[in-house]
Amino acid sequence: MDDVLTGLLRPKGIAIIGASATPGKIGHTVVKNLIESGYKGGIYPVNPTADEILGLQTYKSILDIPDHVDAAAITIPAKFVLDVVKQCGEKGVKGLIVITSGFSEVGETEMEHELVRIANEYGMRVLGPNVVGTLSNSDALNASFAPFLPLNGSASLVSQSGALLIAIDAITYTRRIGFDKLVSIGNMSDVNFGDMVSWLDEDKNTKCISLYIEGLKDGRRFIDESAKASKPIVVLKAGVSAHGAAAAASHTGSLAGVQKVYSSAFRQACVIQATDLSDLFDCTLALSLEPPMKGDNLLIITNGGGVGVLATDSAEIAGLPLTFAPEAVQEELKKHMPSFGSAKNPVDLTGMAGNDWYHDTVNFAFAHDWVDGLVVLYCETAMTDPMEIAKSIHKAVAETKITDKPVTISFVGGERSDKAMQWLVENGIPAYNAPDLAVKAMGTLREYARLQTMKSNPVNNDHAVDKKAALEIINKVRADGRTSLTEIESKKIFTAYDLPVVKTDMVTSEDEAVKKAEETGYPVVLKIVSPDILHKSDAGGVKVNLKDEAGVREAYQTILKNAKAYKADADIHGVVIQRMAPWATEIIVGSINDPTFGATVMFGLGGIFVEVLKDVTFRVAPISESEAASMLDDIKGAPILDGTRGEAPRDKDVLAQVLAKYAYMVSDLSDEIAESDANPVLVYEKGDGVTIVDARIILTHK
Ligand code: ADP
Ligand code: MG
Repeated sequence: MDDVLTGLLRPKGIAIIGASATPGKIGHTVVKNLIESGYKGGIYPVNPTADEILGLQTYKSILDIPDHVDAAAITIPAKFVLDVVKQCGEKGVKGLIVITSGFSEVGETEMEHELVRIANEYGMRVLGPNVVGTLSNSDALNASFAPFLPLNGSASLVSQSGALLIAIDAITYTRRIGFDKLVSIGNMSDVNFGDMVSWLDEDKNTKCISLYIEGLKDGRRFIDESAKASKPIVVLKAGVSAHGAAAAASHTGSLAGVQKVYSSAFRQACVIQATDLSDLFDCTLALSLEPPMKGDNLLIITNGGGVGVLATDSAEIAGLPLTFAPEAVQEELKKHMPSFGSAKNPVDLTGMAGNDWYHDTVNFAFAHDWVDGLVVLYCETAMTDPMEIAKSIHKAVAETKITDKPVTISFVGGERSDKAMQWLVENGIPAYNAPDLAVKAMGTLREYARLQTMKSNPVNNDHAVDKKAALEIINKVRADGRTSLTEIESKKIFTAYDLPVVKTDMVTSEDEAVKKAEETGYPVVLKIVSPDILHKSDAGGVKVNLKDEAGVREAYQTILKNAKAYKADADIHGVVIQRMAPWATEIIVGSINDPTFGATVMFGLGGIFVEVLKDVTFRVAPISESEAASMLDDIKGAPILDGTRGEAPRDKDVLAQVLAKYAYMVSDLSDEIAESDANPVLVYEKGDGVTIVDARIILTHK
């Protein structure tokens, strides 16, 4: 565990630089909060003029403090911060909690860099600047200007928004969701989300990591740390930055929305994505109290048909469609319900269900091997006491001694039901005030289990590549003053990275074209080669299925004529001759450098509709072959590759290998390649592989 970060987040002693005797000032509030939270470590207010603050001795400078201090909370105006950072370094402080604002968020980026530079020079880490502070129940530490410690519990939250952190602090009491730590991460000048995930993963008081993210600064690192983490991570991502709107020359560019790339990256990081603030709480509650759901068999027990039907619908949406439990399970359940009940799924105990029926059915079902997860629903009735029902359910679950299977609950009713649910949560079972939320929470626990099974495979970076050959081509293009490569140049780079490209040769005369066509073997395809014509068909620059010499001669002339008509001053390098690949399923593979995550790779169904359907998926490169395989199943059109309407299944194995190699290429050359695509890639029947027939690369500006 990083002990510098531990010093910052769980300090043994803390100085407050800018401590104030004036109530209402942040420098006063932080001292007051430290005292009121019951913090056991030393609290050292630093103030050059006051003698004492809230009964504590003050110090003129941090260097005057006689004891060791792990952390310093800084609340003085921005222009004085750099000077005290040096003093903190000399004092041997481990971490700075820079509450002061007025840094990069208002354009003072240089000053922020300087702050981090000086701090790091002394081995210190910086939280912020522009933070609310950090809170920890297990350390009775409120080193912030948020009014109190959150409701105690086992989740920890890191928030990029300070205001939201303060609001969440209060919500923990009304929603009854317990947190151990709340950390405000501010401008992330130094400590970023990757650091926090890795540290919290080792923090023994944290069971679930909750994140509110507006924008990552450390995309690839965040993914790597999250994928490594052994604890569930749930994230709420807000804000759409402008970079997606950047002019895009390739297909991939126009398809890569910010949310799409972020969602793909979160998935790759095995992170659960919450849809809104309320969902962030719902997911956090489930993930901090319950284990993952390891199989698909969900059983629902209810006393009301209505909520049962609602839950059944939700189960389908949550990816857990209900199936009937085996006969033997149904037989046993029937013993605990009236004859007009139902032992199918949902199990309807009817409105007559009392404590015993709930206890006995829950106790039996939860222990049964067939059940992978249990949702218990209850509609408040006149004859039953919700608290008694809650206690019966809790007892039934506890008696099974099973801890590796999840249960979620929903009580629908009034105040008594609310109280009963509160009791359940306090006693370790997540409860929600609507049946669909209890089912959705189970869906989250199932998704978490699925993501975990994807974690295993490492990325293979051991591809046979000729990077030198690729760089030679790139350098020649750059020397030519260009950033866009022609198809044949792009294909040479693909070939250097061992990608299967259709045989392609360039010629500059009609006779040569005929000679090459004969060498290649008919039928052939002719295409224009010009860095000024990116979309060749649009310019009438592609002629396919040419069967003989006459066809080649005619195509050659037409293509050149069309190209000149399309763009009179186009720089024409020549014409390519290539083998006419037999028809197959057309897909697109592409890449774009994302400002946050670096090189990303895209896969989707190809053809002319790709930009209309936008049925594509992304991953941050490089990726493992199994990650590549998961991309193939990610898109709506996935069944097409499995062979629809009597067609044979396509060669997904080879396609996944090609995707992984492509991802390796774009990450290995991420300094050079800004965008690229292979559109189309023809995918043949299983066993027959794939062929790339068109290639495009756009270089980075240097
Ligand atoms: P562009 O995308 O610049 O218009 P392409 O090289 O993709 O040009 O060619 C247009 C279309 O022609 C492709 O989508 C594909 O359907 C077909 N095509 C191109 N090259 C071949 C080939 N070698 N074999 C079979 N079909 C091809
Ligand atoms: Mg194309």
